[in-house]
Amino acid sequence: MIGLSFDIDGMGKFRDENEEDAFLEIGIPRIVEFLEKNKIEGTFFVVGNNVKEHKKAHSFLKKYEIGNHSLSHPYFLGLKSPEEQEKEILEADKIISNFYGKKIAGFRSPDYSINKNMIDILKKNNYKYDSSLIRVAYPFHYFKNYLRNKELIKDKFELMPTSFILPFNGTTNVASNFEVMKALFKFIKMKDKNMVLVFHDRDFVDKELGFKNFHMPKRLFGNRKKAYEKTLRFLNWIVKENDVLPLKHLLQ
Ligand SMILES: [Zn+2]
Repeated sequence: MIGLSFDIDGMGKFRDENEEDAFLEIGIPRIVEFLEKNKIEGTFFVVGNNVKEHKKAHSFLKKYEIGNHSLSHPYFLGLKSPEEQEKEILEADKIISNFYGKKIAGFRSPDYSINKNMIDILKKNNYKYDSSLIRVAYPFHYFKNYLRNKELIKDKFELMPTSFILPFNGTTNVASNFEVMKALFKFIKMKDKNMVLVFHDRDFVDKELGFKNFHMPKRLFGNRKKAYEKTLRFLNWIVKENDVLPLKHLLQ
């Protein structure tokens, strides 16, 4: 079984003033269109502040499983104070569950930075799972996240670690070869009976953007059109060959 998940980060601080949030405005409807066309479901991890500020874009997701992706998407949340971790999780929960009119079951930390304290907060607030661990990622530095937190997996609260986070940012996607991606996917699938896959809103945006404040060189993030094409090609191949379920159905 495959769990398709989408981290809906929006452009955040990388957005130029007066510019629309293209990741949300373009990315969300395109993901929904893809899911509907293939008659499958996905899980969307959304950011509390974005939900508050971009209601229309987020309203497209009402029929899907929604997860908590923090209040403001800070990086390295696992290294911040316990108070800040609690605020990021619980204030987001309030906004997201109110907006969607349902209890939120899953959490994914921004930047996949998770720790025991955060897990305890989630449990105390009746969450069913966390999905912040990644086994194999591209770029591979995320592998550290899995090794560092291996003990969390023994606790059944942690969903099986994400098997695949590709195309990451649509960036490595542009650089990667389709056959290599397929081979890597098949290799992981031999080991993981169930797989969680992570995509982003930005993987579906083919518009060239300013990115005045973006932390990545333009040449890496560039050629959005090609990135979008590759995202669709890879996803179409995956859903043709696999059964797809929302993450809550993959609980151990
Ligand atoms: Zn994110």
